[in-house]
This record gives sequence, C-alpha cells and structure tokens, in this order.
Amino acid sequence: MMRRTPMKTGSSPMKRQAFARTERIEAREVTKTITKAAREKKHKCVVKSCRAEFVRPQPFVTWCSPECGTVVALAKLDKQRQATAKAERKDRQEKLAKFKRKADHVADCQKAFNAWVRFRDRLLPCICCGRALTGVDGLGAHGWDAGHYRSVGSAPHLRFHPDNVHRQLVHCNRYGAGRAVDYRIGLIKRIGQAAVEALEADNEPRHYTADQLIAMTAHYRKLLKELKAAA
Ligand SMILES: [Zn+2]
Ligand SMILES: [Zn+2]
Repeated sequence: MMRRTPMKTGSSPMKRQAFARTERIEAREVTKTITKAAREKKHKCVVKSCRAEFVRPQPFVTWCSPECGTVVALAKLDKQRQATAKAERKDRQEKLAKFKRKADHVADCQKAFNAWVRFRDRLLPCICCGRALTGVDGLGAHGWDAGHYRSVGSAPHLRFHPDNVHRQLVHCNRYGAGRAVDYRIGLIKRIGQAAVEALEADNEPRHYTADQLIAMTAHYRKLLKELKAAA
C-alpha cells in the first residue's frame, strides 16, 4: 500500500523536498515487497484439465510444465488457424457479392420498379376489377401486387415497362391468373387503346448489362423516394 503524504500548505520548499525523498524511498520498498510476493505467488496452470499450482518462472508463463506448454501452444495455433479461416471466408463472401449474378441484379431492379409502381398507383383501383377498397371484402389481407399485363414469363423484355405494370390486388394477380381480359379493359381505360396496342406489338428484346440494371435499380429507388416526398 502506498502511503501518501499530503502536501502541507505553507511548508517551506526544503521541507517539501525532504518529504518527497522519504516518499520515494518508501515507494521503492513497497515495490520490492510486491515483486518478492509476486515471485513467490502460486498460480493455477491455465490448462483446464490440469489446474496444478505452480510458481511462474517468468510473468508470461501461464503453464505449469512443458506438457501443458505444448497444450497452450497448440491451442494458440488452432486459434490462429481459425482466425485465418474466418478472414478467408469473409474475403470469399466479399468477392461473391462483387460478382453478384445478373439474375440477382434483375431481381433487385424488379423489386425497386414494383415498389415504385405500387406507390405510383396508390390512389387508383385494381387495374383489372376496379375494386379500390381493401379490407371491406377481405381482399385487403393479401394486399397489392405490381401486376404485369404481359407476363414476365412470356414477355420478359417488358418486365420494366411502366405501361405494362400496374397496381393489382394480390387476389387478382396470383389467384385469378392475372385476369388478362379484365386487365386489358382496365388498361385501355387507363392508358388508351393505342398505348395498349403498342404494348401488345412490342416484341423488341431488351438486354441489360449488370451496370445498367444497377443504374435502373437506383433510378426507380430515387423515383419512389421523390414521389413519397411529394405525396
Ligand atoms: Zn499444467
Ligand atoms: Zn382486380
């Protein structure tokens, strides 16, 4: 225990110096006793299956015998190996994310585009049946889809065409096979006969690169954000 001599107010510089020296000597003696005690202190071996008591030859030695030393060294090696494996795994995952498959970019873009369509049409009724209310007839529980007029399966080139996709009740889109005939009637009402016919005649393939898809995803996210801000 270190004893502190409080600084006496009004004591002369000479006296203060004398105090300081005594303090230093005392401190040194305390340190000596501590090191002596530390040298003789018994420690338990770090190896769980051993736990034998021993006196450390050096402060860093936490094992009682060469055998236990080997156990400690092997455990350390194993830990290092695990850390390396973890770093490699992380590296691989990062590379994989970089080379995300094109299909993933398409899916990302579709998600962003569909979200924008649903919000764009939020005040309009279902494109095929004209039902505006959800909840009243129990359809609301299923919510809304962004329903394609010409399906993604048969016309993948129109999957991101704003005229081809409109907000539709999940009930109609998924359980009514899209209700193509009713969809067409609703679509003519909304965008006009000419635009519908143009859509039906549009068979020009669209091929997007990964970079284009990334840009389109960002574009539709931005559009949705702006729409929401304006709403
Ligand atoms: Zn041991
Ligand atoms: Zn409908």
